[in-house]
Amino acid sequence: DTPDIRRHMEWLAAQGVDVVRVTYPDLIGTDRARDVLVDHLPSACDHGLAFCKAVYHTSPQGDVVPVAGGLDAGLPDVTVRPDLSTLTVLPWEPGVATCLGEVTEPVAGAPAAESPRDLLRTVLARCAEHGLRPVVGPELEYFLLEPAPGSPTGWRRAPETTGAVYTAGLRADPGNHLLRTLRNLRDLGIGAIAGNHEFDGGQYEINLTHSHALDAADRSFRFKAAVKELARLEGRLATFMAKPFGDAGGSGFHLHLSCEHADGSIAFDDPTGTYGLSAIARHAVAGVIAHAPALAALANPTVNSYKRFGPDTLAPWLIDWGLDNRSAMVRIPPERGSGARLELRLGDASANPYLLIAGTVAAALLGVQAGEEPPAPLEGYGYDTGKAAVLPTNLPAALDALETDTALTGQLGEGFTTSFLTYKRNEAERFGRHVTDWEFIEYAYHL
Ligand code: GLU
Ligand code: MG
Ligand code: MG
Repeated sequence: DTPDIRRHMEWLAAQGVDVVRVTYPDLIGTDRARDVLVDHLPSACDHGLAFCKAVYHTSPQGDVVPVAGGLDAGLPDVTVRPDLSTLTVLPWEPGVATCLGEVTEPVAGAPAAESPRDLLRTVLARCAEHGLRPVVGPELEYFLLEPAPGSPTGWRRAPETTGAVYTAGLRADPGNHLLRTLRNLRDLGIGAIAGNHEFDGGQYEINLTHSHALDAADRSFRFKAAVKELARLEGRLATFMAKPFGDAGGSGFHLHLSCEHADGSIAFDDPTGTYGLSAIARHAVAGVIAHAPALAALANPTVNSYKRFGPDTLAPWLIDWGLDNRSAMVRIPPERGSGARLELRLGDASANPYLLIAGTVAAALLGVQAGEEPPAPLEGYGYDTGKAAVLPTNLPAALDALETDTALTGQLGEGFTTSFLTYKRNEAERFGRHVTDWEFIEYAYHL
């Protein structure tokens, strides 16, 4: 045992912890985990925990998705080592602590090609070469559902309708789900700030504080898993899917992005610059605009994601940016100084936080490298086609845009890009073969 492990073991004993849940994000951002009895933690740190590599590539329905190096290679292992610097006690499960795991190839010990956390590290290292340290503030929306036996999906929104837009309290949240969740998130120590009932019945938003990009991704990942787990404790389902209901708005994953220089000074503010923004900030906006169709594949990664876009949704539809304009894809909030930032409104809640942040930062960095200026900002209503190009309208189009954008895939690496495209194209193909209720209702009686 190293002194480091001994120190953590003493801390765990003092907290009364006898099980550590080691979790890591797979390709689609699902939390994969193993519960480790605390006596075996030192051995897990030395040797790692063996997971089947195919878990990166298993569809939620349980199909093993054919990804290079997965089933075709005999379902090899990846090794997961607890990252004890991320240990935290699970507030709602007595005796249990949790930490993130580092994923490596078993023999060489190199980061696994598809590990989202390592992909983000790679992109951030490239920013560091340019003396830049991105800062991210995540904003996630989700729907809370309760059992509805006999309904087609078995679930309904909780509550179903309220009209209680941007409110809190029993009027919007009769079960006080939000209060319980906020307090548990605070005790988990992942930087939750505030929450409210959102636009649609049963839709909630919780804001997380801003921090350096990897930490913000870690907290977003743990946030989603925690909210889902807390809802299960209530016998409910929290879903971050993009657009669970045709008659309600979608759930966004807005990303506030700013940047520090290596010395910690602010990189996005410049009172003398155009719009009060530094050249770096304007180049970052230009990069995100230029690579938006490819970025959509990461920010909007499911066949369902594209149903969230559209006029009057507060989700974007066009590839544009604006000054304090919520109908634009990129909004520049009014604050300047240390609050100078962009808000990318593109992402939906189903995005893997590591991939959304890595893709956004990579696109911004490409803009900085190219020294591009953004087009003129959107004025007024953002849903008039003709004002700007339209975002991809479906997942296959976004995947094609990603494959074609070799500048962006160059930042993400070939191993990741191949795995991601293979997995997601398989998903789109499976959906394409699926006969939906809509088709039956549209055609069966008339044709
Ligand atoms: N639900 C909207 C979206 O999907 C965002 C609404 C808001 O601005 O809070 O992005
Ligand atoms: Mg919101
Ligand atoms: Mg927002």
